[in-house]
Amino acid sequence: MEFISTRGGERVGGPEAVVKGIASDGGLFVPADIPEITEAEFEDMLGMDYAERTCFLLGKYFGEYEEGELSAALRAAYAKFDGDPVPLVRMDEGLYILELFHGPTCADKDLPFSAFAHLLTKGRDLLGIREPVLLLVATSGDAGKAALESFRDREGVKVMVFYPEDGVSKMQKLQMCTQEGENLNVVAVRGVFDDCRRGVRKILVKQRADVRERGYLLSSANSVNFGSLAPRICAYFSAYCDLVSSGQIGMGKKADFCIPAGNLGNILAAYYAKRMGLPAGRLLCASNKNNAFPEFWKTGTYDGRRPCFRTMSSPMDVLVPFDLERLLFELSGRDAALTAERMASLASAGKFSLRDGELEAFRSDFYADSVSEDDTVDCMYEFFMEYGYPMDTQTGVAMCVAQRYSEKLGEDPAAERRPMVVLSAASPYKFPQDVLYALSGNDVKDSFKGVKRINFLTAMKVPEPIKSVRYKPVRFKTAVNPEKMFDEVLKFLD
Ligand SMILES: *Cc1c(COP(=O)(O)O)cnc(C)c1O
Repeated sequence: MEFISTRGGERVGGPEAVVKGIASDGGLFVPADIPEITEAEFEDMLGMDYAERTCFLLGKYFGEYEEGELSAALRAAYAKFDGDPVPLVRMDEGLYILELFHGPTCADKDLPFSAFAHLLTKGRDLLGIREPVLLLVATSGDAGKAALESFRDREGVKVMVFYPEDGVSKMQKLQMCTQEGENLNVVAVRGVFDDCRRGVRKILVKQRADVRERGYLLSSANSVNFGSLAPRICAYFSAYCDLVSSGQIGMGKKADFCIPAGNLGNILAAYYAKRMGLPAGRLLCASNKNNAFPEFWKTGTYDGRRPCFRTMSSPMDVLVPFDLERLLFELSGRDAALTAERMASLASAGKFSLRDGELEAFRSDFYADSVSEDDTVDCMYEFFMEYGYPMDTQTGVAMCVAQRYSEKLGEDPAAERRPMVVLSAASPYKFPQDVLYALSGNDVKDSFKGVKRINFLTAMKVPEPIKSVRYKPVRFKTAVNPEKMFDEVLKFLD
């Protein structure tokens, strides 16, 4: 499969799209054609396990890679998960939670990075590249940790993670700053996630040559990189297959998906899954009180000029999501010139607007809503009381949006009722203070006290990676202003 830039200036093969990470014209890579899954292939997928499903779907995009090797890499990666990598848990009639947090860092990002680590290292071999690759990651907490863990001590790759100093949970920070591995670095940025995102993107576009001079090839590892977005598509197909196999839905009948939105990686993955033929109804984007995206959905104007609020669901505290660009490209009917113009307008004026036809398409495939901190806490508490199920704060936001949506549908007798799958991206133990507060009203300062009390209250098993982080030494302590990010890169390479 070939990949093209959302800004029109480039066309490359799969390995090159992965290794470069971002196009030379500043755009993001998207597949030149979106592959479609036939009915017979769908039937085949029903009988596969998760590694086989992932391998099959990735093969549609990355045919250059040897299937046996990819499959072996995925199996090895999933062996580090605690049981089924993507269990679909039935909560009630027509309500499911898709748990994506059973990997080694307890968040959904383990799934894409498990595959991405292979796509990148093997891609480098396929292209005959000798230089090591420097991967830059701007993270709101979870992608950074997953990247560190997936690439730790891998030859030919260095990883550098930037996170907003006060924009991640204490547990997430501890997980990143105690990371072991000689090829890794973690730096706090004095600012919000968008400062990290802008800084990384700037380095990727403007400083490639400076990094090359020092003998490194620069790339990105967030869902900016299609190699890290594609594996996320599999979770939706897999959830749907599980619904069919367990007799909860008839093959071909539609299901809705409600997804907590940060950088829109998961949402774009669900969108591509739908375009590939997944019987998805609407894709619900759930936001916290950082509501630029729901406003965009309502008004057709994206306005990133607003303060970024620090919320309990910090991975979703994003003003201008990385993957907005791919969405614009697809909504415009793949108009690269228009996409480039809008991204320029976003950078200079802070906003842009959709045309009428686009807005209609946007609204029929998607839905978007934002919820307050109080409503999130209430939802988490009530859901726990009713179902005995503890959610992390992001899932709380998504569940609240899903419930409101279903209430709204309930008022309309003509509305089609579809099963709802709510995506859960992180273990509640990654946000112990806020989760404990939501479930019990108790406010504790210490993360591990929170962990212990949640365990007491819910009897949910504490994941091993959370337990073990407590006694690890903190290795990374550097914090810099956003304009000093590149200096840190140079220090790391010297
Ligand atoms: C990454 C993440 C999200 C959503 O980010 P997207 O880029 O929109 O997929 C939501 N919740 C948690 C806990 C996350 O780690």
